[in-house]
Amino acid sequence: MGLLRKFNLGLQRTKEKLLHEINRVVTDSQTLDENALEEIENALISADLGIPMTRRIVDAVKKACESRRHDGLDVMAIARGEITAAFNGAIGGLKKCDGLTVVSLVGVNGTGKTTTSAKLAHRVQSEGSRAVLAACDTFRAAALEQIKEWGDRLDVPVVAGSYGADPAAVGHDAISAAQSRSADYLFIDTAGRLHTKSNLMQELEKLHRVVGNKLEGAPHEVLLVLDATTGMNALNQAREFHKAVPLTGLIIAKLDGTSKGGMVVAIHNELELPVKFIGLGEQPDDLEPFDAQKFAEALFAD
Ligand code: GDP
Repeated sequence: MGLLRKFNLGLQRTKEKLLHEINRVVTDSQTLDENALEEIENALISADLGIPMTRRIVDAVKKACESRRHDGLDVMAIARGEITAAFNGAIGGLKKCDGLTVVSLVGVNGTGKTTTSAKLAHRVQSEGSRAVLAACDTFRAAALEQIKEWGDRLDVPVVAGSYGADPAAVGHDAISAAQSRSADYLFIDTAGRLHTKSNLMQELEKLHRVVGNKLEGAPHEVLLVLDATTGMNALNQAREFHKAVPLTGLIIAKLDGTSKGGMVVAIHNELELPVKFIGLGEQPDDLEPFDAQKFAEALFAD
């Protein structure tokens, strides 16, 4: 399936809502007057694009209105252009170091860390690289089982400690195991934690410190997994996590389950962190590197 089609399917809910509301305003309004612009503004806000991005799009529509007649004014095309520009046409993906690249996935419980670790391992394997998964969520027995199941299903080796083991020790051993297998990537699935729990955040810092002592520069990527269905709440999580552990990027999971997919734009705007991947479903292939232009096209399709 082509990338644009995957983006289209995954972002369908957000797209349908935007298309429905914006088309209604454009069709009903002879001239795009203040009321019509306000309705467009409301539609953008309700898709969680955030105030700054909403203003930017509405201003661009207003400007275009002033310089030309309403006939032929393509609000969707203007929105696509503004979104692509706001991301500077960014394209996501993973950093690759010489030797082993260590990627730590962090976030609160249930956002999609374990599934995303497995999807990432599957992706790099299908591109010809070797992956190992580290099960550092040792707090939940079910989490250990879940990642082992993924490993079996996708044929990815999993390094797991026992239930209750020190996550830092598991991370340390996982680096040795990944190196002895000449793996290209180690994906560390960390325990879900609330950014407000300082002891858990300290434990995450310890895990990162220990893997950094074991392998210089590790973790090379620290990716915060956010659940798109939580809308703007994800923004607070992102802010707090970024304060506690320096993040190198974001993964927005479950975009297929929301009509508020605009939150990707709002969060990027606010934090200026790259969006590396987006999750578009529960299957191993339902993870795609972020592509600003495709994202904008899928969100504001005609
Ligand atoms: P964790 O607690 O952060 O490790 O979260 P999990 O990986 O266990 O995921 C929680 C739930 O979200 C599971 O039921 C996953 O199947 C589901 N999930 C994860 N990513 C996606 C996604 O991109 N789309 C959808 N629809 N569901 C997802």
